[in-house]
Amino acid sequence: MIENPVKWPNGARCAVAITFDMDSDSLIHYAHPQTADTKIGTASWLRYDRVGVPRILNLYKKYGLKQTFFVPGWTAEQYPDIVGRIVDGGHEVGMHGYLHERFDSLSAEMEDYWFMRGLDALTKVTGVRPRGFRAPSYRFSKNTLNYLAREGFTYDSSLMGDDVPYIIEGDRGSVIELPTDWAMDDWPQFTVNSDLGYAMQVNSPDRAMDVFMAEFEAAWEYGGLWVSVWHPFVMGRLARCMRMEKMIQTMLEKGGVWFATLGEIADHVDRLIKSGEYVPYRERIPYHGATADPRSHLPRG
Ligand code: ZN
Repeated sequence: MIENPVKWPNGARCAVAITFDMDSDSLIHYAHPQTADTKIGTASWLRYDRVGVPRILNLYKKYGLKQTFFVPGWTAEQYPDIVGRIVDGGHEVGMHGYLHERFDSLSAEMEDYWFMRGLDALTKVTGVRPRGFRAPSYRFSKNTLNYLAREGFTYDSSLMGDDVPYIIEGDRGSVIELPTDWAMDDWPQFTVNSDLGYAMQVNSPDRAMDVFMAEFEAAWEYGGLWVSVWHPFVMGRLARCMRMEKMIQTMLEKGGVWFATLGEIADHVDRLIKSGEYVPYRERIPYHGATADPRSHLPRG
C-alpha cells in the first residue's frame, strides 16, 4: 500500500507524533483585528490553552513521551509561562507564524516580515531557535519554502502529499516534509464558533477517535507516519483528553510504535537519506507556473 516505506528505529511499525498547535487567542486577533477585544466569549474558549497545555504535559510526563508543539510568536509573547512549561518538559516548540497569518494571502514581502517576526519572537521566548514549521491554517504559500530554506529549517509539517516523509525543493533549497491530513486534525471533529465561521457537528470523543485511530491502524500496518494536528483548547478539553490517554495506552499495548518529536523524525529520515538507506520522493514547489485564466480569454465577436 505504501510503495516507499521508511525504516523506523528499532523495527517500529510506524512513527507517531502527537502534535498540538497552541494558537490561543491569536486566532481571534487575526480574524477581527479591530474588535477582538470585544469578543470575550470566543477569546475565553481559545484561552482554554491555559488549562489544556499543562494537562497534556502531565499526560506526556506520565507516559514518558516527548512531543512537538507549534506556537505563533504572538502567542508565545502573551503566554511565556505556558510555553516555558513546554520547553521545561523537554518538548519541541516549532514555528507557527506570528499572529497565525494566512501566508498564502500575503505578498512575498509581507510574508517574509511576519515569518521573521514569528521566528524572532519564538526564539526569544523559548531560548531555542525552532527547526520545524507548520503553516497556520495549512496556508503554505508558494514563497514559504524559500524562507524555511533561507533560515535553515530542517522540516515542515503543513502539507498532505504523502503517507511518509518526502522532500520539498525550491529555488533556495529544500526541507523535509512530514505530512499530515485533515483526518488527523481535531478541528473538523469538534469546532463550533460563529466569530471564526465554523459550525461542525460536535462529535463524541469516541467518534472522533475512530477517525484518528483508523489512520493509526493503517500507518501501523504499512509503515506510515501518523501526525496529529490538535489544539489544546479543542482536544485538551476534559473528556477528549481522557480519551486521548486511552489512545496512548492502546498504542503502547499494541507495541511497535515509535513516539517521537517531529524534529527527531526529521533527523532520523535525514540520516537514512544521507546513508542511502532511504530515497525519498522529491517534490518541487511551486507546482506549476502561473496558469492562464480561461475566463480572461472569452471568444470575441
Ligand atoms: Zn494554528
